[in-house]
This record gives sequence, structure tokens and C-alpha cells, in this order.
Amino acid sequence: MELLTDRNTMRAWVQQQRTAGHRIGFVPTMGALHAGHGSLVRESLATTDRTVVSIFVNPTQFGPGEDFDRYPRIFEQDRVMLQELGCHALFYPDVASMYPSGFQTAVTVEPLGSQLCGRERPGHFTGVATVVTVLLNLVRADRAFFGLKDYQQFVIIRQMVRDLGLDCEIVGVPTVREADGMAMSSRNRYLSDEDRQRASAVSAALSAARAAFLAGERESGRLEAIARRILTEAGIHRIQYIAVRSAAALLPLEKIHEDGVILTAVKVGKTRLIDNMVLTLPG
Ligand code: AMP
Repeated sequence: MELLTDRNTMRAWVQQQRTAGHRIGFVPTMGALHAGHGSLVRESLATTDRTVVSIFVNPTQFGPGEDFDRYPRIFEQDRVMLQELGCHALFYPDVASMYPSGFQTAVTVEPLGSQLCGRERPGHFTGVATVVTVLLNLVRADRAFFGLKDYQQFVIIRQMVRDLGLDCEIVGVPTVREADGMAMSSRNRYLSDEDRQRASAVSAALSAARAAFLAGERESGRLEAIARRILTEAGIHRIQYIAVRSAAALLPLEKIHEDGVILTAVKVGKTRLIDNMVLTLPG
């Protein structure tokens, strides 16, 4: 596996691969890798010829007082995991190579980026869209892989690629969960044992809403109430949002006619957790 740490070596490697006729898959991450990231890498390895993973804790997507400084950084462990998975290149730039001195550009996707998580974290999705644009331009991947765990992020990136005419297919990969249903996340390691137990109510709440949906309930308000009750019964009271939206564009829905998605963000202890489940009828 090649280790590339600046824009020029990244570009040169890509050029070589493309000249050799290889199709490139790209998995952007912030590191502290777990099986959820592993699933994206496997999907890339299975469907392209060369897989690049990036590890970059992007300062511009963190707000003041958020966890940028204490975000887990375990590069050596991550490197070994990617090597063992069979990844071809690891892009590990520092802040100065991603944001050269004098950097002025921002990519904003509105109104998608200012609702749900964007309301709670102003500027977050502009930070995400900007860094992903730089990365996609450097890596020039044929396909880039994003987790449906961050559903709003996935929809925003897909929209941005469409709007800017970027030549890259955006692939959404299903959420990988722990045995109790909890969505894997690099931030789960912040949770105390007690909070970790309580946090399993997040996926349980969404599952209950999905079960009600499959049993015939279509009213967004009722589905949200089912999930909210389970969260509060588990002692999760700081619910930033719980919302049923359209699956394709995240538009508010009174009632689900076609595909929907239920999304939530809560705080458990000091940790902010997000999760979602798509509401589709089988077949
Ligand atoms: P992050 O390192 O948290 O920025 O995540 C990098 C990529 O991995 C994003 O596309 C995430 O959506 C994806 N990801 C994170 N957790 C999971 C998970 N549990 N299952 C699937 N994909 C995930």
C-alpha cells in the first residue's frame, strides 16, 4: 500500500493508475477506522481496480466547542487495518496540504445543508462539501463510497456532484451495526459503559418506527412519536431532532407515499450520536 501525504504525490499516483487503465475507487474518512469503514473499503475493492482511502480530520467541518481536538487519531492502527484489507493507497495529508495558505473557497449546498444536522452544526456541511470537492478533484475516482450512516451527508454529496457535473459515481453503503443494533461510529468510544448501554435505544427507537411503518403506519408524526417515546423511556432527553423525510431529497413529509427515511440526532452524556433508517416497503 502506497502512503501519500501531499497533493502532488496523490495526483501523480492517480495519473499512473489511470494511464495503466485502472478504475479508481475512493473512500474518504477521518480515521479511527472500524468495521463500518471496512465495509466501504471492501465495496470499493470489489467494484473497482484500485482503492484509495483518505484519512483527514477536517477542521472546517467542526464548529467551535466541538470535538476536533479530541477526535480519536490512531494512524498506525488504521494503516495496518487498511493494509490488511488490501487497500492500494492511503492518502494522509496534513492541514497545510489540504488548505494551502490563502485558501478562500467554500462549497455550499443549500437548503439541504442547513437543515437537520446542519441546523445544529452551522457550517458543518459546507466544511464537508468543500473538503470532498478538493479530494474528488485530486483523486479523480470513478466511484466514491459513502456510508448511509451519515444519510444527510450522502444526499448532500450526491447533490453536489450532480450540480457541479463532477465525473464520479457516488455509492451509498448500508450502515454497519454492533450486535445490539447500535450504528458503528468513531465517536462511540467516547461513551461510558452506562451511556453506551443507554445509547442502544437510538437504533431501537428507529427500528420500532420502522416496524410500525411495515405494519401499515404512514403518518410521519406518529412514526416520530413512536421513536421519541422509546428514546425518552431510555432516559435520552436531549433529542436534537427526530424527523421523517423523503428518502431521495430529505423533503418534509406528512405522510409516506413512497420511500421515506427516519433520522435522529441525540446527545448522550457529552457525545452527539446520529442514526437513521430507510422506510421502504419490501419488494
Ligand atoms: P468518518 O470517518 O466518520 O468521516 O466516516 C467516513 C465514511 O464512513 C463516511 O462515508 C461514513 O458515512 C462511513 N461510515 C461511518 N460509520 C459507518 C457505519 N457504521 N456503517 C457504514 N458506513 C459508515
